[in-house]
Amino acid sequence: MNKQLAYIGLGSNLQQPRIQVQRALQALQTVPESELIKYSHLYRSAPLSGNDQPDYINAVAMLRTGLTPLALLDALQAIEQQQGRIRTAERWASRSLDLDMLLYADYRSDDPHLTLPHPELYNRAFVLYPLYDCTPDLTLPNGQALAQLLQTCSAAGLSRISP
Ligand code: ATP
Ligand code: CA
Ligand code: CA
Repeated sequence: MNKQLAYIGLGSNLQQPRIQVQRALQALQTVPESELIKYSHLYRSAPLSGNDQPDYINAVAMLRTGLTPLALLDALQAIEQQQGRIRTAERWASRSLDLDMLLYADYRSDDPHLTLPHPELYNRAFVLYPLYDCTPDLTLPNGQALAQLLQTCSAAGLSRISP
């Protein structure tokens, strides 16, 4: 299989989130059959679930991978586990590490186990701004330029924390 480009969204709001994200970026360099091509600045964002959680640290990474989408998801979930991710029934619960597959080439899937593009890709400033750091000239799967989408995407609650 030819190698494909995939974009991964990283998030953490527990157990030293900034260090969690930096460790995850290192772990992404060890994913089999894959190269970490680029990663974004780090951002701080307000939690989706209101103010009862600590802020998140977010970033986006760009991988070139020979893994299939499902094998890559397995590798991402293994990294979450290594970094102490505990899954609960609560949606958007605080977590030490969340790795979401945002895009995998132009692959599309409605499978709840792996939905591609990530269903919230277009709606989340904490994903779109770091994605722009990686690939400012990206055209999204709906045909819209990422740069154009950002013009209408509020960055309220989002701040860049690293050069
Ligand atoms: P959200 O998906 O809204 O960001 P979340 O990241 O908190 O929420 P999780 O609890 O981390 O959700 O994941 C729930 C399930 O979503 C996972 O078990 C995984 O199988 C599935 N999933 C579906 N599509 C994707 C994707 N593109 N990337 C990562 N996981 C996905
Ligand atoms: Ca997520
Ligand atoms: Ca997730």
